[in-house]
Amino acid sequence: MDLVEKGQMLPLMEEFYTIQGEGYFKGTAAYFIRVGGCDVGCHWCDVKESWNAETHPPTAIEKIINNAASYSDTIVITGGEPLTWDMGPLTQGLKAKGLKTHIETSGAYTLTGVWDWICLSPKKMKLPVPEVYEKANELKVIVYNKHDLIFAEEQAKKVNKDCILYLQPEWSVRDKVVPMIVDYVMANPQWKVSLQTHKYLNIP
Ligand code: SF4
Repeated sequence: MDLVEKGQMLPLMEEFYTIQGEGYFKGTAAYFIRVGGCDVGCHWCDVKESWNAETHPPTAIEKIINNAASYSDTIVITGGEPLTWDMGPLTQGLKAKGLKTHIETSGAYTLTGVWDWICLSPKKMKLPVPEVYEKANELKVIVYNKHDLIFAEEQAKKVNKDCILYLQPEWSVRDKVVPMIVDYVMANPQWKVSLQTHKYLNIP
């Protein structure tokens, strides 16, 4: 477990080459590394299998890095909550190969790692730490119900001024919340709509 604590090994849930479906880089081919472990506990989470890190094999980061480099120059680290672990060694290794490092995070834990792009998707149950608000490149708030729009505005007040603001319908309630988001973005154009286009495309 020591090597996992040092970030030299990570509980790897899955890795795959696909198209980034969400946010600023939607439509861009990227290699996804899904790291296990998350205790944030979103009730609508669509990757609950990721929560228990012990069910995902500790994998040497060299292996993950070499694999990623053979597929793409854009690497998205997602989870689970990647910041459960020290992202320093993994991201340094990816950068040493000239790859771009992106993270999808709830921001709930100390920011580790070297990032070209930070997508902050804050969760009410465990709010982000201040450093992630300061460094986030995009804020992506998942909208499950009307109250999430109030939460989105609260979160937007905390991010840096260059951070791009996205509202994204939670997939299982998309039919209900999309019209609400569309109206909201037209009335509040500082926000943009983000859709899970990979789900519409039927790709991972
Ligand atoms: S933070 Fe992400 S992985 Fe963790 S429970 Fe919430 S949606 Fe799932």
